[in-house]
Amino acid sequence: MRLLEYQGKELFAKAGIPVPRGRVAATVDEAVEIMREHPRPSVVKAQVLVGGRGKAGGVKFCSTPEDVVEPARAILGMTIKGEVARRILIEERMDIRQELYLSITVDRASKRPIIIASAMGGMDVEEVAATHPEAIATFRVNPAAGYWPYIGRRIAKQAAIPGSVMGQFVDIAGKLYALFFEVGAMLVEINPLAVTRDGALVASDAKVDLDDNGLIRHPEFESWRTDLPDHPLEQRARSINLNYAYLSGRGDESVGVIGNGAGLVMGTMDAVRAAGGEATDFCDIGGGAKAEVVRNAVDIVTADPRVKALFINIFGGITRGDEVARGLVAALDGGTWRKDKLVVRLTGTNEREGRAVLEAAGITAVETMSEGAARAVAIAKQG
Ligand code: GDP
Ligand code: MN
Repeated sequence: MRLLEYQGKELFAKAGIPVPRGRVAATVDEAVEIMREHPRPSVVKAQVLVGGRGKAGGVKFCSTPEDVVEPARAILGMTIKGEVARRILIEERMDIRQELYLSITVDRASKRPIIIASAMGGMDVEEVAATHPEAIATFRVNPAAGYWPYIGRRIAKQAAIPGSVMGQFVDIAGKLYALFFEVGAMLVEINPLAVTRDGALVASDAKVDLDDNGLIRHPEFESWRTDLPDHPLEQRARSINLNYAYLSGRGDESVGVIGNGAGLVMGTMDAVRAAGGEATDFCDIGGGAKAEVVRNAVDIVTADPRVKALFINIFGGITRGDEVARGLVAALDGGTWRKDKLVVRLTGTNEREGRAVLEAAGITAVETMSEGAARAVAIAKQG
């Protein structure tokens, strides 16, 4: 779960990492109100999950309640890389002398947290890595030993961080490391970590990506979930605990895929693509899925207007074939989805019973995954 900048900065502030003072607004009026309370040189920033807001015009300056109107109006509702900015962060403007970079993520190869720093912050770190690899310093931390100040000093030296901010840098890196573990993050990134005219280090931007698998331990983030601009169908699925993903796609002749187990669903989507089609809707009903779950899955996937064929691929292990078949028949009975736009493959536990249930309802199951994929793609292309 990625956090918006203002949410990340809230976490930074709690962790003791210096951030500019600021507040969030959802309307122009709120923005004016904020500027009235704090008439000072400020930055107006689009709150979206994608990066590169600066280049896209999503970061603007203002100083008075009057001149916040134009940037606020321009940024609220602005689309940046496909994402609409519904909120703006208005914060005191820093007098920036230098832009540094600092992040922590997981290094998969060494299975350790890796601290990455550079004195060439403010721009794409990928670009810096490509053109000036020597300007990027890394340190893989042994999680059992944890972070120690010598680590921060070593990275700082290697990255050519100015000596005047060394102490602050070492302190911030330690606090960021502690935060990384405390919230269960996949990534915490400060770009730029600004050196101000007064020689202070301030986190001018915040990117935090939380590990979804750890969210169960952090109910405090639940309220931020609704802030995320997920697709409405994904929100609906989440509210009933269904694993569903709305994926982007080129056309509107797509095959919706339902299966039990994420691996099977991914494999099925590959099979659809191999058959020359497009699969945009991923739905995993999990193990032991009951009739009601199948019905919900069909309802959600077929609510996507791009979906023109539905391919249900069930491997009966814990999930009993007849149980799934009954759910399917029930879902189709109650809904508007046509049986001739449905392809079912059912194997494994209670396969025969399942097929009998389907056949009684006028649905024929296919034998193999590739046969099912080919048939579903043909149906989708008919529109
Ligand atoms: P991003 O483009 O989405 O990463 O957004 P950032 O928050 O990193 O802002 C982009 C750029 O705007 C930064 O690299 C800075 O150069 C500039 N910027 C942001 N906040 C301030 C500020 O308070 N003062 C100054 N002078 N520049 C800022
Ligand atoms: Mn940034």
